[in-house]
Amino acid sequence: MSNLVDLAAAGRLIREAQRILFFMHVQPDGDSIGSTLGMIRALRQMGKEAVMVGVDPIPPMYHFLPGWDAYQVPWQEVTGEWDLSCFLDCGDLERVGDALPAVRLGRCTLNIDHHATNTAFAEYNYLDFSAAAVGELAYRILQEIGAPIDAGTALCLYTSLVTDTGGFRYDSTGPSTHRVAADLIERGVRPYDVAQAIFESEPLPRLALLSRALQTLQVDESGRMAWMVVTRQMLAEVGASDHDVEGIVNYARSVAGVEVGLLFKETEDGRVRVSLRSRSRVDVGAVAVKLGGGGHPRAAGCTLAGPVAEVVGQVVAAVKAVL
Ligand code: 5GP
Ligand code: MN
Repeated sequence: MSNLVDLAAAGRLIREAQRILFFMHVQPDGDSIGSTLGMIRALRQMGKEAVMVGVDPIPPMYHFLPGWDAYQVPWQEVTGEWDLSCFLDCGDLERVGDALPAVRLGRCTLNIDHHATNTAFAEYNYLDFSAAAVGELAYRILQEIGAPIDAGTALCLYTSLVTDTGGFRYDSTGPSTHRVAADLIERGVRPYDVAQAIFESEPLPRLALLSRALQTLQVDESGRMAWMVVTRQMLAEVGASDHDVEGIVNYARSVAGVEVGLLFKETEDGRVRVSLRSRSRVDVGAVAVKLGGGGHPRAAGCTLAGPVAEVVGQVVAAVKAVL
C-alpha cells in the first residue's frame, strides 16, 4: 500500500540515496523541467549521481536553463542499480510514458507532487496540494537536507514557479510562492530575464498556430464554456511542434463570461489530447479523472481515442454536466 510521507522523511530518502533517477512526465512543461533540473544540479553539487529520464525532448524555450542538455539520459540507456526512482510533477505512474521499465532500476520509489488527483502510486509519496509548483517542493527538500542552492539551481526552480503559476497569476499563487521566489531572486535570479525567455520569445510558428487555433474558437449557448481545436494538419501547415500548443488553451478560458476553456489537440498517434481550464468554480481535475486523466481543480488534462469531433462532443457533454 502507498505511504504518505512528510518533508523530513522525503528529505531523508534523498539524503541517504547516492544514485537517483528523476523521471519527468511526457511532454514535459516548465514545472517538470525546472524542478527536475534544479534538484539534479544541487544534488550533483553534493556529490550524488543524479540523472533525468524522460521520453520527450526538452522544448527549445527551456534551453536557457543550465543542465538541460547534460543531465538527460534516454530511458533505454539507463542501466545498473539505482538507490531511488524519483518522480516530480507526475500525477500518476502513466505520466512517465514509455520510460516505465527504467523505474524498476531504482530500489525504491519516491513521488513528489502537488496535483490534487495524485494517485500516491509510489512506495513513498510526498504530496502537498497547496504548493503552486513542484519547484516549491523541490526547494523545500533541498533546504531540508542542506543542499546548496546556487544561482543556476535558483534559476531552474524559479522557472518552475513562473511557468506553473502563469507568471504568478493563477489561483494557486500564495504567500509561500512569493517567499520562495524572493529567496531565489536573492540567490541571483533575474526575473526580467526569465520573463523574457518564457513570455517574450514566441517562435513565429507558435503565433501562426495561435492564429489558426483562434479561428476554431467556439462558445456554447450558455456563454460559459469555450473550446478550440488544433489538428495535425494545422501544426504541419505552420511548422509548429506539439510543445507550441502549450498555453493556447488559456485563450479559451480568457473569453469574458467563460468559466471553462478547453483545447483539443490531435496527437501523432491519432488520439486527442484534451486540456481543461476553469476560472473559479468548476473542478476540471475531477472531470479529467472521470475521463482517465487528472490535474488540478483549475487546470487538468486527459488523452482520449479520436476522432476529434467525437471527443469534442464527449468532453463538452461531461463539462456541461458540472457547469
Ligand atoms: P496540460 O493541459 O497543460 O497538459 O495539463 C494541465 C495539468 O493537468 C498539468 O498540471 C498536468 O500535469 C495535468 N495533466 C494533464 N494531463 C494529465 C493526465 O493525463 N493525467 C494526469 N494525472 N494529469 C494530467
Ligand atoms: Mn506542476
